[in-house]
Amino acid sequence: MPSSRSARASGRGAEPFPFKQENTRRENMKIAFIGLGNMGGGMAANLVKAGHEVNAFDLADEALHSAAEHGCTTFDDAGAACQGVDAVVTMLPNGAIVKSVYKESVIGHAPAGAVLIDCSTIDVATAKEVISNAESAGYDMVDAPVSGGIAAANGGTLTFMVGGTDKAFNRAEEVLQAMGKAVIHAGDAGAGQTAKICNNMLLAISMIGTAEAMKMAEKLGLDPQKFYEISSQSSGYCWSLNAYTPMPGVGVESPADNEYKGGFATALMLKDLRLAMDAAKDVDAKTVLGAKAAEIYEALAEEHGGLDFSSVIKTL
Ligand code: NAD
Repeated sequence: MPSSRSARASGRGAEPFPFKQENTRRENMKIAFIGLGNMGGGMAANLVKAGHEVNAFDLADEALHSAAEHGCTTFDDAGAACQGVDAVVTMLPNGAIVKSVYKESVIGHAPAGAVLIDCSTIDVATAKEVISNAESAGYDMVDAPVSGGIAAANGGTLTFMVGGTDKAFNRAEEVLQAMGKAVIHAGDAGAGQTAKICNNMLLAISMIGTAEAMKMAEKLGLDPQKFYEISSQSSGYCWSLNAYTPMPGVGVESPADNEYKGGFATALMLKDLRLAMDAAKDVDAKTVLGAKAAEIYEALAEEHGGLDFSSVIKTL
């Protein structure tokens, strides 16, 4: 296959928002960080790098170990980690865990003046409920899910989409800037989660569309690299094609060139699509392609949940 690989740009870790905001943080804070997994570990380390004092808690000893190596003070109890802090950041697997951690260990444990920031990807309804409970207890709180994977979490280049009041957003922004390249106020409580699941539903659909078009072009005898060259400069231009080309050896370098290892796991894409489908049902939104994408990723996750989501091209 003829290829102009030498001309290929690296799309690994490429992000849709190619700018870095100025860090306007004025003072160092004491911050509790709960959930130090693949994403939270790097995020907490970046808060330390920015000069903050970080109280870290996770259920997993390994995660606590690593946090200590990165300069965090570790605790064996989430409530204790929240004592006397200016802010609490959580990065947890799902809505049920977020709800219980805030109920059991954050509300009433963190000082009333602390700003609470949940960066996990969870359902919109739970995000609103947790924020409403926090506000009733006198806290400012935002939902602040992220775009960008583990590399962006480690590199401090996440994009945060934030839901909450202006006051809560302004207070959270100071903390989030140390972990990201862009912090965007999406709207009221839950708006961050809404932005996240709608964005990822669009991404899933566009990745499947990109994969279908590339495979069809190939089957019709068109060199996939030629198709990339043409479509990436035509109306087929999109992030999935231009910045994350799903076919090995074609377009920009991406997880496809590493046997679909690394990147954004299919299982996580499926999680986000399920959240999107639940939210769509709640508001009676018509999401024909979103539902089809969820079905396709459901089947893919059964066999290859750990592979990057662009591996959907292998099923075509
Ligand atoms: P992970 O499973 O690696 O980390 C979650 C951590 O939470 C684990 O270390 C776990 O021990 C800890 N935990 C679970 N229950 C806890 C509790 N009750 N108290 C304290 N700690 C607890 O997951 P991750 O990949 O870091 O993802 C975290 C969140 O970020 C998820 O909501 C995910 O959807 C979202 N996200 C992930 C990615 C990604 O590429 N991994 C990208 C964007 C968003």
